[in-house]
Amino acid sequence: KDYSNGIKPNWCPGCGDFSVLRAIQLAAASLEIPQERMVVVSGIGCSGRLSGYMNTYGFHSVHGRSLPLAQGIKLANRELTVLAAGGDGDGFAIGAGHTLHAIRRNVDLTYVVMNNQVYGLTKGHVSPVSLPGLKTKTTPAGSVDQPIQPGLLAVGAGVTYYAQGFSAQQEELVSLIAEAIKHKGFSLVQVFSPCITYNKTNTYSWFRENLTNVSEVPAHQTDNVDSALRILRETDGLITGLIYHQPDQPTFEDRHGLNQHDPLTSKMTESTEEQFSRWTKRFFI
Ligand code: SF4
Ligand code: MG
Repeated sequence: KDYSNGIKPNWCPGCGDFSVLRAIQLAAASLEIPQERMVVVSGIGCSGRLSGYMNTYGFHSVHGRSLPLAQGIKLANRELTVLAAGGDGDGFAIGAGHTLHAIRRNVDLTYVVMNNQVYGLTKGHVSPVSLPGLKTKTTPAGSVDQPIQPGLLAVGAGVTYYAQGFSAQQEELVSLIAEAIKHKGFSLVQVFSPCITYNKTNTYSWFRENLTNVSEVPAHQTDNVDSALRILRETDGLITGLIYHQPDQPTFEDRHGLNQHDPLTSKMTESTEEQFSRWTKRFFI
């Protein structure tokens, strides 16, 4: 199956988001997700265009609001594989509240954040994850703010799957996204995805020099929260690979008695209507 709809992305040639788009398509292909059962919801920003390039259902939504939509879509029809995508501004500034609450709810969906450490669509101003000293149009003398470290935020808030990838390491990224989709619960994949036009500091070569991989930390245990927090702190978050995975935590659907389907077989024992009726009776009757 081809998960590309053939529309040529209008990103700048060399933008990291091309690789992330392809990685999502390859991950969907590796899992053989039926195209009519997959929905990609995106926010606003350069990366927000991603949903328009998928040969699946898609929803190019509102700034910072891809997760409320994605959660609503998943809960309305749990036979769907739902993937939300957006940028660092989308997920860690205007949408940061939604990111935290999606983490604690643990609805079974995947969120891919393309982190280029600037706002690309609005011409490269500083973002909540820009490193101190980054010169942008809004920080001509260099950013003085403490950046958010998404990994510490997510693992600290109780995320059940957290991984970090790099646009230039697509093979690993495909596998991290495929595993995230297979995970039962909310999975977050943060991708270092360089903006070649507005971020002249955190470039591909900068990431190649500064990123380490979890395979270089053999003592790391992906099911251990202390181990995950430690490697994130020790590397200032500049690490790729699977950082944290708790496969057996109850999802929002479990806690509310909603039947989950297997995204690969789409098997459910109750229809969506029967479950919705049973669920609403718990609260309203
Ligand atoms: Fe990509 Fe930056 Fe161009 Fe936007 S401005 S398409 S993030 S390279
Ligand atoms: Mg950005």
